[in-house]
Amino acid sequence: MANLANHHRSSRLSGFYQKSVAERATIVAQWAHLTPAEQTILTESLTVAQADKMVENVVGRYSLPFGIGVNFLINQRDYLIPMVIEEPSVVAAVSFAARLARAGDGFRTGSTDPVMIAQVQLLDIPDPDLAISHILAAKAELLALADTSPTIRELGGGPLAIEVRSFAQTPTGPMVIVHLLFDTRDAMGANAINTAAETIAPTLEKLSGGRALLRILSNLTDQRRAWAEVTIPAEAFTTPDYSGTQVIADIAHANAFAVVDPYRAATHNKGILNGIDAVALATGNDWRAIEAGAHAYAARDGQYRALTTWEVREIERQGDKETRRQSDQVDTQSKIENRKSKILFGRLELPLSVGVVGGATRSHPLAQVALKILGIQSARELSEVMAAVGLAQNLAALRALVTDGIQRGHMALHARQVAIAAGASGQDVDSIAAQLVREGQVRLERAKEILSKRYE
Ligand code: NAD
Repeated sequence: MANLANHHRSSRLSGFYQKSVAERATIVAQWAHLTPAEQTILTESLTVAQADKMVENVVGRYSLPFGIGVNFLINQRDYLIPMVIEEPSVVAAVSFAARLARAGDGFRTGSTDPVMIAQVQLLDIPDPDLAISHILAAKAELLALADTSPTIRELGGGPLAIEVRSFAQTPTGPMVIVHLLFDTRDAMGANAINTAAETIAPTLEKLSGGRALLRILSNLTDQRRAWAEVTIPAEAFTTPDYSGTQVIADIAHANAFAVVDPYRAATHNKGILNGIDAVALATGNDWRAIEAGAHAYAARDGQYRALTTWEVREIERQGDKETRRQSDQVDTQSKIENRKSKILFGRLELPLSVGVVGGATRSHPLAQVALKILGIQSARELSEVMAAVGLAQNLAALRALVTDGIQRGHMALHARQVAIAAGASGQDVDSIAAQLVREGQVRLERAKEILSKRYE
């Protein structure tokens, strides 16, 4: 394990899934230099007393599995990905796709500045055009007023811009909506920006001659986006049953389906969010905010669509220039084509308002451990890792769908839940699950039958 302690630690952990929980925890603890206390938090998690301070009317705690997505290489850096999720096969699938991505040098990511939007709704305005010109003329005054967080200002963030939108017709009459753009640095920023919106509202009332009603952030955080890209050679998809070139062509067809059809797009994007939400939960981030932003963004041109792009590209194979120089023969067309190779290009871009300070990122002890495992310092880096995870999750789902179908891999993992539901425990869980899969009938009744025969 000594190699995990150095700077060139690799997240490519072959056979991680075959190890025991304790062995996996030790590997992760060495990787992230967790203290013994932090390692204990991995299994003990939140106390009831801590839970009681987080929300209201607490009567207990609800635990979920905390797994690790392995094999991630993002911008040439290795990451282990903490994921909290109840659905089987998500962690296995994302780790598989991250391994595929390594064949193309991993994921490349980027992000915008962490700019949030707050909205102030203005009603009963005598002259909307005049109100808008007054508001825009008072931009500097409004921005100064909105500078309500000294901490965020000191970190280089704070209010950036005022924008005005006018709705002449709504179900209850005309309204003017003011947007305050605010860089919240490493916080998700809901509290900072809501405070700023409430602070500028009375001045907006004076400027417009109207009444301020709602003063709250927008979850369509389209100024705060992250993206991830990946390029994988076709050969990486080749198996004894499938040609890699066919698989990547079919992945592009599957994506095109989700670009044009909202019925497919909803499922396609749900798969992306399987991964992103799991990282959000592990790090104490607000997954409902992420969901709202992602789905609203997916419908930004008026039709709900896939958040991803997947396309087949042709590149000249490396080393061919050398071959060509050495050859005196005239190339035939077929030789030229042979030199081209097909690669799969994928891209995901979406709004991601996440933080590494504030909210549950600090109040949930496991969220702190998750951030340490990620080794992440900034909200932007976290959003970029999440984009890579979403892209990997989507790739895993599409690859399964265009080849064996989703059920084969899923059922093997689902079978364990069926065995548990039938009352199996300990070693019975895996052996009954294996038998259910072998028999091709992953059903509760069959699991109960097998179990009762064992203990007759
Ligand atoms: P917060 O208010 O707990 O923490 C943010 C504060 O931390 C900042 O205002 C700043 O004072 C301080 N800070 C310290 N170091 C910082 C740094 N490096 N960068 C930025 N700020 C730093 O949390 P928050 O992020 O404002 O709010 C998140 C919470 O708000 C979540 O729990 C979310 O569920 C909730 N929320 C969401 C919505 C919504 O999405 N519609 C609405 C209301 C509340």
